[in-house]
Amino acid sequence: MEDKALHILNSTFGYSEFRDQQQAIIEQLIDGRDAVVLMPTGGGKSLCYQIPAMARAGVGIIVSPLIALMQDQVAALKQLGVSAAFLNSTLDAASAREVEQQLLCGELDMLYVAPERLTTERFLNLLERAPIALFAIDEAHCVSQWGHDFRPEYIQLSILHERFPAIPRIALTATADAPTRKEIIHRLALENAELFVSGFDRPNIRYSISQNQGNAKEQLLRFILNEHENEAGIVYCLSRKKVEQIAAWLSSKGLNALPYHAGLSAPIRQQHQSRFLSEDGVIIVATIAFGMGIDKPDVRCVAHLNLPKSIETYYQETGRAGRDGLPSDAWMMYGLQDVIMLKQMMETSDADEAHKRVERHKLQSMLGFSELTTCRRQALLKYFDDHLEQPCGNCDTCLVPVETWDATVVAQKALSCVYKTNQRFGVTYLIDVLLGKDMARIKQFGHDRLSVYGIGKELDAKQWNSVYRQLIARNLLSVDVEGHGNLRLT
Ligand code: ADP
Ligand code: ZN
Repeated sequence: MEDKALHILNSTFGYSEFRDQQQAIIEQLIDGRDAVVLMPTGGGKSLCYQIPAMARAGVGIIVSPLIALMQDQVAALKQLGVSAAFLNSTLDAASAREVEQQLLCGELDMLYVAPERLTTERFLNLLERAPIALFAIDEAHCVSQWGHDFRPEYIQLSILHERFPAIPRIALTATADAPTRKEIIHRLALENAELFVSGFDRPNIRYSISQNQGNAKEQLLRFILNEHENEAGIVYCLSRKKVEQIAAWLSSKGLNALPYHAGLSAPIRQQHQSRFLSEDGVIIVATIAFGMGIDKPDVRCVAHLNLPKSIETYYQETGRAGRDGLPSDAWMMYGLQDVIMLKQMMETSDADEAHKRVERHKLQSMLGFSELTTCRRQALLKYFDDHLEQPCGNCDTCLVPVETWDATVVAQKALSCVYKTNQRFGVTYLIDVLLGKDMARIKQFGHDRLSVYGIGKELDAKQWNSVYRQLIARNLLSVDVEGHGNLRLT
């Protein structure tokens, strides 16, 4: 069986060896057992079900929610001489019937189906009359309400296990934190499946995160000039306005920087994107609108001038660096202002409360990640349930260990200051009170008479800022966005 898989890999797909856990996953299915696969985009998930579909007798049924992707895959397989077809809403009735006929005759190796069609009684009956090799459920996170791409049709897919208990199933996804993964296993009845998590590490990417002390753009410029002059890079910002400002600033310093955001006309965006792809040393300054489907292997750095809204987003965006495997940087600079802005964007969106709760949790995890004093790669991999035995030696906290100290007393002072001022003020004001600043505003509120006034002179404003960030990252304080970013005790 093993030889058969390798033979298909060589002769049909033209690759000499399996990557990572591909072989183990393929053997699992060929042996008739179930698998849950977590692998990042580009990791090579498709082969994990395509090869067993070919190696086993019968047709492999692949469930995919993305019609365009389905068609691309089928076209690619046909090119390789594999007998593959798809069934979705783009086919007319006659073509659909023809595919169904091929399915019944056992002429297909693989059939891609949209979930809403697969779960119809009519189609399930058809499947009962056809020889089936396996079921592959692609984009399996769509079954989870915890994720962002929830699709109700996916819930129905547990029926595959009920109707076809003897046929092996494989569920695959690139984005699954622990709660999502649990939901996939539970909802698809994959409790007995083996879990394969692999390939999330991008060892050539060096992660570093630091705080914006008000000079982020100068720091960015210095970083680019020192480390990545004349190399391709992407700079992510949260707002269109900031994208424009940063692109203009970098250009004024002689760099080849171009803005990219949804407010620009389509031809301009197209032009900037193709210059990025074809010219050397172009830096794209962009909102999150940029990057989907961009496959440029030699992006040497991805910089964030704001906090991304989740670790998934951070991983995905930084993952656009160094696809060629050569040393690359993921560089980020952020401030507490970003947390306030992101929370405001979240709270004012028209998503429902359950969705907002998930988003808040994801942002909190991102903030915690940013404030880490231990290896970032280990934490990042842990988030995706992948793991790394030793600290990586290629992230900022590994390269320049963060000095930690017992902050019990200062944390008490910081929290007390929040409480005594009635949880109505932001970090800057709180620090002014702790430092005992002589300010009209403080006097006006009578806060110069509080016991916390001036009790924090052992630290400077920058250090207090770091204390407050740590307290927020540890969820001991929360930022109230309905007010003006005032801190509250949790
Ligand atoms: P995913 O679905 O995980 O995003 P794909 O299955 O599309 O990833 O694979 C990404 C790329 O890697 C494809 O171009 C694929 O042909 C290639 N690939 C996958 N497995 C191997 C392998 N064992 N050897 C070489 N290339 C591979
Ligand atoms: Zn590290």
